[in-house]
Amino acid sequence: MKRNKQSIAAERNYTVERQKNEPVSSYFGELTFNRKVMRDKLPKDIYTKLVAAIDEGETLDLNTANAVAHAMKEWAIDNGATHFAHWFQPMTGSTASKHDAFVEPVDDGRVVERFSGSQLVQGEPDASSFPSGGIRATFEARGYTGWDISSPVFLKKTGIGTTLYIPTAFISYTGEALDEKTPLLRSNRAVNKSALRILKLLGNTASRKVYSTCGPEQEYFLIDKDFFYKRQDLTLAGRTLIGAPPAKGQELEDQYFGSIKERVLSYMHEVEEKLYQLGYPAKTRHNEVAPSQFEIAPIFEEANVAADHNQLLMDTLRSVAKHHNFAALLHEKPFAGINGSGKHLNWSLSTNDGINLLNPGDTPHENIQFLAFLISTIRAVYYNADILRASVAHSGNDHRLGANEAPPAIISVFLGEQLTKILQDIENGAISAATDKAIIDLGIAAVPLLNKDNTDRNRTSPFAFTGNKFEFRAVGSSQSIAWPATVLNTIVAESLDIIADKIEAKGGDIKTALIDVIKDEIKELKKVLFNGDNYTEEWQQEAAKRKLPNAKTTPEALKALESSKAFDLFEKYEVLSKVELKSRHTISLEKYITEIKIEIKALRNIVDTQIIPAGLKYQKEIAKSLAAAGGVIKNSPFLDAQKELLEKISGLVGGLIAGTRDLGKLYDEGSAIEDEQAQGEFFCSKAKSKMDEIRKLADELEYYVDDDLWEIPKFWEMLFIS
Ligand code: ADP
Ligand code: MG
Repeated sequence: MKRNKQSIAAERNYTVERQKNEPVSSYFGELTFNRKVMRDKLPKDIYTKLVAAIDEGETLDLNTANAVAHAMKEWAIDNGATHFAHWFQPMTGSTASKHDAFVEPVDDGRVVERFSGSQLVQGEPDASSFPSGGIRATFEARGYTGWDISSPVFLKKTGIGTTLYIPTAFISYTGEALDEKTPLLRSNRAVNKSALRILKLLGNTASRKVYSTCGPEQEYFLIDKDFFYKRQDLTLAGRTLIGAPPAKGQELEDQYFGSIKERVLSYMHEVEEKLYQLGYPAKTRHNEVAPSQFEIAPIFEEANVAADHNQLLMDTLRSVAKHHNFAALLHEKPFAGINGSGKHLNWSLSTNDGINLLNPGDTPHENIQFLAFLISTIRAVYYNADILRASVAHSGNDHRLGANEAPPAIISVFLGEQLTKILQDIENGAISAATDKAIIDLGIAAVPLLNKDNTDRNRTSPFAFTGNKFEFRAVGSSQSIAWPATVLNTIVAESLDIIADKIEAKGGDIKTALIDVIKDEIKELKKVLFNGDNYTEEWQQEAAKRKLPNAKTTPEALKALESSKAFDLFEKYEVLSKVELKSRHTISLEKYITEIKIEIKALRNIVDTQIIPAGLKYQKEIAKSLAAAGGVIKNSPFLDAQKELLEKISGLVGGLIAGTRDLGKLYDEGSAIEDEQAQGEFFCSKAKSKMDEIRKLADELEYYVDDDLWEIPKFWEMLFIS
């Protein structure tokens, strides 16, 4: 590509103004209707009722809702808002909203701003074109949005517009979940109930509520905006479909945690300013392994709020990028051959009185509690590894899982040596509560110390215990954390119940009973434990021996959602009915097929209209040059070499012409398959391997063709000019 003067100039002349000069603490959450604003703006009795509704799940009566809506409107208008919007998360993976103006006409031709309690609490977007996986066809055409009071209302500033955003759940009129939030809220309820039950059994009667906590670490790439829009594949499919690896990749390891470039840091700063205003607790930022790859992570929050916040984060990463002439890429694998992006989902359970239930404590009592939650989580993952795998299955993540940079598609649990040893000792009878309380005490109390030491970190495990939480690393960078968090909450809720049942069945001293249950369970559960290198071939073989599921592709992985085990689980815990789960399976499969079809069309278009023409032009130049030279020089070995080059080019171009023609046929053949599972599998195997073949030819051609004729930005340009 002709070096883009504009983008390089953009970097040279790059300056941005800092928006906020005061300390973060003075503006954190200023765009949210938070407790301070509530206290300031609401009458005392209304404030008390609202807080009770938020904290204790009490229902809001209409009078209270009206008073809250009034205060919210005043506050929003004072801050420049003209519209309000119910903000929801349909199963498209992103968020949606429809804006309504506050104004309403009055008699004399003027307008006034109005916002009622019922407008706050319930909305009815004309949302018939969001995916429902057949639910709305079966039941009722409309869907409605209901205010989720557990997630803060906020003001969103876009350009010169300001809108009041109300986080909502999106449900069909017959009550089926049509979104990501509803099941997450239901799974929180389920895990709360099961966790409280086991806590009570273990003698904790003080805690009144248990909720899951999430801290998602978000990886992303930044490239020059100009390059982004010159590539149809990035613009339409989010990833490059062709492009040869650059001469320098990540092998020098000079990027990870390296010093952050000026333009990038300014970008990060603006992202954080915006997020702090929205109450998003941004904590860490750094360069990631690949060139032009970065990470941002928050302080963990309650799962539902964390899920909303992660959506706001992704939104902010994308929108702020434009101010800095960047495009933010959230796809799992924007560049073949270069490290991909994930979203490590740190997950734990916490009580309302501040106990992290996966934190090994200092007292025997806390350790017993910890052991119960630990074994329940391990149990949940072992018996539901397939469902957990399905929760991260989508076309982008297929390029990542198992590609020797991210965890494999096999879901195993890393505990570290010391915890593994404790479980082994329990299995072998070396630790028993009745005989030696002190051993459990000492053994586990040492764990957090050990885990603080990074040498014990296993970066290759998909599900790793990291001292006081689990880190689910197979989540894709572009996906909402809501669904994986929902699955985790639900499977752990079930496991907690099963462990509680078993403890109860043993009777007697509670500690002895728990240790005995662990002893019984671990014999089977240890199959899911693996502390070694998950990237190796040996682990693939070992996991097969242990009969751990290893679904390598999305169509294969999604099958887990259609099992009677999954139907029973989600139904029993009232997270998703059979119809709802089925719809989720259908939507995921359809999305997978659609995404691959978009990739196929984009690839064909790029190859037919950009790559083949470049190849032909270059071929013509060589041919002309050869003909001219042949008139002067006869029988030279140098001319023979040039002829070979010509043959090479024409061979590659010919291969590409045949390749896109074949791909077109496969597209039609696949599209004609009626059964969606079969269609998904067809595109996954046949079409994708044809795409890989085409990519190989195009990437080889890129090495030969005159750079001036190659219009498509190359990897080295995108990854190293920033
Ligand atoms: P790491 O060593 O993996 O970088 P950090 O302590 O920096 O770990 O945490 C990574 C993420 O995990 C952060 O977003 C953090 O807030 C989150 N995290 C920490 N504790 C918990 C918890 N109890 N529950 C959920 N997430 C947590
Ligand atoms: Mg981490």
